[in-house]
Parts: sequence; structure tokens; C-alpha cells
Amino acid sequence: MANRLEGKVAIITGGNSGIGEGTGKLFAHEGAKVILMARREAQGRAVEAAIRDDGGEATFITCDVTVESSVNSAVAEAAGTYGAIHILFNNAGGGGRGHFPDEPTEEFNRVINVNLNGTFYVSRAVWPHIVKAGGGAVVNMSSLAAQRGASPRMHDEFGSTSSSYWAAKAGVDALTRYMAGVGGKDNIRVNGIRPGQIMTPGATRGTINDPDGGHHAFEKLFDLMQILPGPGYPVDVANLVLFLVSNESRFITGEIINIDGGVAAKI
Ligand code: NAP
Repeated sequence: MANRLEGKVAIITGGNSGIGEGTGKLFAHEGAKVILMARREAQGRAVEAAIRDDGGEATFITCDVTVESSVNSAVAEAAGTYGAIHILFNNAGGGGRGHFPDEPTEEFNRVINVNLNGTFYVSRAVWPHIVKAGGGAVVNMSSLAAQRGASPRMHDEFGSTSSSYWAAKAGVDALTRYMAGVGGKDNIRVNGIRPGQIMTPGATRGTINDPDGGHHAFEKLFDLMQILPGPGYPVDVANLVLFLVSNESRFITGEIINIDGGVAAKI
């Protein structure tokens, strides 16, 4: 076990699956006490057990990031679990199915709620605890969607784009910069990450090209979009998040870093 996060307590929303699960395992391996938050308890307890079996420390707390009362009670419980909170990874989220101009209001609001409002609710509840701990680091989960267009072809051939998701993640980017500005005086760094195509249950499950899972929703675009062959994996993203919450990035705040196999440099 390494010790880059020794003595730190970290909350990871969406910690029971995919990128959140991978990050929880890496954080624990680096000595952090990890609080995993999500809605599905059985999956959360399984990740908690896997971390403990590996010699790490983790606790799962049920939380729906779209419900303020759920967030507030989960964060209060988290603060009491290990006595402090230093790190927050706002990772819970996911895409939708609505395509502009046909996206229904309910779907638009649902996706904005989980990706953007959830990031706000959890950050607002955790913030005083990080201040009380003397400072720390927050990483917000954005997406390449915040920076790139969505061609009709993406929707017609892959069926996985939604106007709400593009808008929500762009909102997360703006919130990240705003929070970073507020955090400076309290020694809280806030950065964001924009993954491209990462193999997770959320990016494979039930897409129109792959109803049984196992293939990334945008697999056919890897070659077109990326310099490096895809996909990326949760551990690739976890390594970036680890860097952004560890002291190795002590002079970085207000940045949003792409992790996508080189999309920006491709023609
Ligand atoms: P995933 O395996 O489906 O994970 C999504 C996580 O979010 C789950 O742990 C889920 O747990 C949690 N979640 C969803 N709604 C929630 C809610 N209302 N309250 C609390 N937790 C909630 O997919 P993933 O790919 O790892 O996604 C993680 C993040 O990465 C998302 O924000 C996604 O937008 C972003 N991202 C992914 C990719 C990619 O290619 N995979 C690319 C760019 C960005 P419960 O369902 O149990 O609540």
C-alpha cells in the first residue's frame, strides 16, 4: 500500500460502480479512508467489502445526490464516520436519451439534476467540513461532452447523446471554476476532469448498439476521434483524480483536464 493520501478522508459519489469504484479502490490503496456514496446499497457494500478485503478502509453510505435531504444526512453521517472530510470527488452522474429538439422536459431536468444539481448539493454540504479540516481538494466530474458538439450522426447511429447531458457537464465546468475562486482563501483546490470514452457499466449498459453491455456506446468512434486506441478504463481516470487530490498538484486549481486519448489534437 502506498501513502499519498495517508490521514485523509475522501467522499466519492457514485462510488459503487465504474469510475467511482475504481477511484475508491485507488484512494484506499493510497491510505485514504473512503466514503462511498450512491443509491444502490448492495453494490456499495460489495465495493466496501472489496476495499476492506484488500486492507483498506471504506464505508458505504446510501445517498441520492438529487435529493437535498438525502445529501445533507449522508454528509452528516460521513463527517461523523472518520471525524473529518478532506477530499470530495463529485462523480455521480450519467447521460440521458433526449435529443434536441425532442428531449422531454422531465428527461432534461432529470439529467441536469443528477449531474449538475447533485454536484452543487454535495459540494455545498461537504464544503464547511473541508474548511474545518484546514483545507483539501475537490474534483468535479465533467465530460468531453462539455467541450464538443454532438453531430446528428452520433444520435442517429449510436443513440446515446442528450442535450441535457451536454448542458449539465458544461454547467459543471463553470461551477468548478467558480468554486475554485471561492476555495483559495480556505486552502481548498477545485478542479474538474473531462473523460472521453471510458469502459464502465454506465457507458456500455443497454446502448442501442450493445443491448447486453461489453462494448462502449461510442466504440465505433474511437478511431475517428482519438489519437490513442480506446477505450480508457476507470483506473486511467482514477490516476488523474488521485493526482488532483494529492499534494503533487498543490499549485493547480480551477483547471478542467481532459482524459480522452488525445481528442483535441486529432485533426
Ligand atoms: P456508472 O458505472 O454507471 O456509474 C455512475 C454512478 O453514479 C453509479 O455509481 C451510480 O450509482 C451513481 N449515481 C447515478 N445517479 C445517482 C444519484 N441520483 N445519486 C447518487 N449516485 C448516483 O458510469 P461511469 O461511466 O462510471 O460514470 C461516472 C461519471 O463519469 C458520470 O458522471 C459520467 O457522466 C462520467 N463520465 C463517464 C464517461 C464514460 O465514458 N464512462 C465519460 C465522461 C464522463 P447508483 O445508481 O447506485 O446511484
